[in-house]
Amino acid sequence: MHIVITDSSQTILDIVRKQVLASGNSVTAFADGAEALDYINSDAPMDILLTGLELPNISGLELCWAANSRNQAGAPNYIIVMSSSSNVDKLVEALDSGADDFLKKPFIQDELRARLRAAERVLRAQLELVRLASIDPLTNALNRRAFFEKVEGVLKDKKNATPSAMIMMDIDHFKKVNDSFGHHAGDVVLTNFCKSLLKGNLMLGRLGGEEFAAFLPLVNGDEAFKIAEKIRTNIAEQVVSVDTIPISVTCSLGVSEFNGDDTLDGLLKRADQALYAAKNNGRNQTIVWGSELHHASVEDAIYDD
Ligand code: GH3
Ligand code: MG
Ligand code: MG
Repeated sequence: MHIVITDSSQTILDIVRKQVLASGNSVTAFADGAEALDYINSDAPMDILLTGLELPNISGLELCWAANSRNQAGAPNYIIVMSSSSNVDKLVEALDSGADDFLKKPFIQDELRARLRAAERVLRAQLELVRLASIDPLTNALNRRAFFEKVEGVLKDKKNATPSAMIMMDIDHFKKVNDSFGHHAGDVVLTNFCKSLLKGNLMLGRLGGEEFAAFLPLVNGDEAFKIAEKIRTNIAEQVVSVDTIPISVTCSLGVSEFNGDDTLDGLLKRADQALYAAKNNGRNQTIVWGSELHHASVEDAIYDD
């Protein structure tokens, strides 16, 4: 866990830092509230915020609000406020500002460690919920919503998102797998398909039944084509055994490259058109949107069976 500590007292910072490091966690400490606020408002790591309420330049409550907005933006964190005041109004205000727990100063170190352990338990459970809400349970790929959110997150900084590429993939004649070997066998094929892709740390989303997309940051169209071809040949070579029956499948892939003033919709649409062209052109192949072959076949790109 990464723990951010803010307090006006250097002694408290030193004590907490020592405790946190001894328990195998990492730490960033601030004596200045404004610097802490900048840190929290950036994407810098923070699992637990442990903050004094009385800080120079800023109120600890402001840090609670900022940490809470990170929470709401899908980056869970746990907030513990520390104060020497016994004023109930202050405690209520802190909890209403997003704090999860309150530590009365001066505290004994056993209590601090116990509260950090409790925070870690809650946070791990919360992170697991976030993970479960974003993962497709059959294949472990990101679900459609989480995939789009993640890609949008990268694309919003257009400068850093250029180049990048999208690969859309669809298993060929997958209905035949279900029809010939049963739905369970189809599920095993889908799981296996994604397993090999996820091994490569791809940002992979399941867009629908047996249709997937991989987003490749900092990769141009040519490189994305090579990656797509690797995926395609790798899938075609694999044999999955279901109840001792060997099953193999192929897939078709469409690639699009992000151009500076593009949108996620545009990127997906072009990858989808290229995928359509790959299907239409005989399947088990990759087509990059904008390639000659694509232009030749996209006009009447319809599935041919
Ligand atoms: P094409 O080469 O044109 O893509 O042919 P296809 O047979 O793969 O056609 P299509 O993409 O339309 O078929 C998708 C099939 O995938 C239909 C549906 O029954 C099956 N499917 C969708 N989701 C699942 C799933 O979670 N498990 C299994 N076993 N089958 C699924
Ligand atoms: Mg298909
Ligand atoms: Mg399909």
